[in-house]
Amino acid sequence: MSLYVTAVSYRTAAVRSGSWLALAGTLVNFDTFKTALCVYVLLTRSAKAYRHVRARGVVETLQDGYKGLLERMIFLALKFPSAKKQVDDKLAETRQKIDDKIMPKDPSIVRHLALPAEGRTAEWIAQEMERMDKALESGSYKDGKLSGAVYHGGEDMENIIVDAFRKYCVSNPLHPDAFPTVRKMEAEVVAMCLRLYSNPDGAGAMTSGGTESIIMSVKAHRDWAYATKGITEPEIAIPVSAHAAFDKAGDYLKVKVHTIPVDPVTRKVDIKKMKRAINKNTIMIVGSAINFPDGCMDDIPALSELAKKYKTGLHVDCCLGSFIVPFLEQAGYPAPHRFDFSLPGVTSISCDTHKYGFAPKGSSVIMYRNADLRRFQYYVTSKWPGGLYGSPSMAGSRPGALIAGTWAAMQYMGQDGYIESCKSIVTCARTIARAIRQEIPELYVLGDPPASVVAFASKHPRVQALAVGDAMSKKGWHLNGLSGPPAVHIACTRLTVPVVDKFIADLKECVQEVKERPATDKTEGDMVAVYGVGTSSAVGPAMCEKVASMFLDALYRA
Ligand SMILES: *Cc1c(COP(=O)(O)O)cnc(C)c1O
Repeated sequence: MSLYVTAVSYRTAAVRSGSWLALAGTLVNFDTFKTALCVYVLLTRSAKAYRHVRARGVVETLQDGYKGLLERMIFLALKFPSAKKQVDDKLAETRQKIDDKIMPKDPSIVRHLALPAEGRTAEWIAQEMERMDKALESGSYKDGKLSGAVYHGGEDMENIIVDAFRKYCVSNPLHPDAFPTVRKMEAEVVAMCLRLYSNPDGAGAMTSGGTESIIMSVKAHRDWAYATKGITEPEIAIPVSAHAAFDKAGDYLKVKVHTIPVDPVTRKVDIKKMKRAINKNTIMIVGSAINFPDGCMDDIPALSELAKKYKTGLHVDCCLGSFIVPFLEQAGYPAPHRFDFSLPGVTSISCDTHKYGFAPKGSSVIMYRNADLRRFQYYVTSKWPGGLYGSPSMAGSRPGALIAGTWAAMQYMGQDGYIESCKSIVTCARTIARAIRQEIPELYVLGDPPASVVAFASKHPRVQALAVGDAMSKKGWHLNGLSGPPAVHIACTRLTVPVVDKFIADLKECVQEVKERPATDKTEGDMVAVYGVGTSSAVGPAMCEKVASMFLDALYRA
């Protein structure tokens, strides 16, 4: 015990004086070097555990621990041959189902598994694409029954983008000397977005999508925090409703992610709990405007105050809000509060040009408060035999055609175009929310979504929201299933606007149909199967992840 205390005081003294050498010197004098090392490991471990418990709460940590233990025990039990066989059979059955869904069934479809010995003609290629599309029934998104995914879909916009592609087909912004126009267009896309988000003097870059924008923001904040504060065990705190891309960034970049609960009624992140999760290792906190699951907006002004007070970064995820949220006010539906760089604590914002900006897929913008912060996003090296190398984001070579397509789409839309699309899309979403609130008593709307997404959950014991989602699938709608609570959402797009009445009518029918199903009816659709399993048992999430990997494997079966 006394040794422990001595080691602690030596360590703190050494740390306080900032001299690790002093500590090392003292340690060498210890006969019990090993003990001291143990104490050190113990101390850092318990400091880590303490920060985790503080962020997560005692009850939740215990619950997590219990769930983890249960999961491990069940997995051990599943190693017994008889149980293992059952699980393997079930997984094989699931794999078959996935294959049946994804793989072409029509035997007349030709599989092209090796290079043709001789090159084909342009006519052949066009015809073969036509044949495959027909056999695989692609193009059904045009009926507007798909949530999100295709944000514009108009022929006029397609022509604008394809013309830009053709003109800048071979361009690559990695070589600005060879493609000066593409360089200019990228800088202008970023400048237009910065102005839209109240930071004309800020800095930014284009990326391949929202996920890359978010990964870049986490990297920039991580390297900034290391350079300016010496943080070596970086952490971020995100609302549980934030996009999975933040977890992905944490996974890729070795940054710990604390997930903070949202208020069950407003669906905004709990500010008190967010505050509790901030510690000396925090590199940034996150708010969404708007979030993906239920389309609600976190209290960004309150997050900005936290970020200011604790001198940490604040990323606002406007990937989905993109060109809707900044135009709400001009469209006559004011945002609940400010959400952009006009709030002093906001250090970065991601905005997906390829969502409500209507740019081609593979295009997003990451913005920073200033160029100093952006510099931490860059990768540069002078040690490569290939020459002095620098690139702003994940990719090396990048498609200049996408930059040109994005620039063209933004020029084509203009402010008036975006205000008009914002008005029609938000009106569509609000019409759906109002219908659910006033005419479908079995369901309720999650929070008070201000923009384009509406999520509904059930308040009737016999009407499961996911079962309603499955019934909607049978009517041709592709909606998103959510967990926590089990719910379903639709992200309205330009294509949803003309079919909003059909959506509401179908939703009412599906609710009645599910409600009137006899209790003995155990038919299960995909949404219930996937999300039901994910939340119903201790092994659910792990099984879901297995199935998700099987799904990814299936995508590559030619
Ligand atoms: C779509 C989305 C992202 C990620 O975007 P990708 O372009 O799919 O990588 C991030 N955040 C929110 C809120 C989104 O809706």
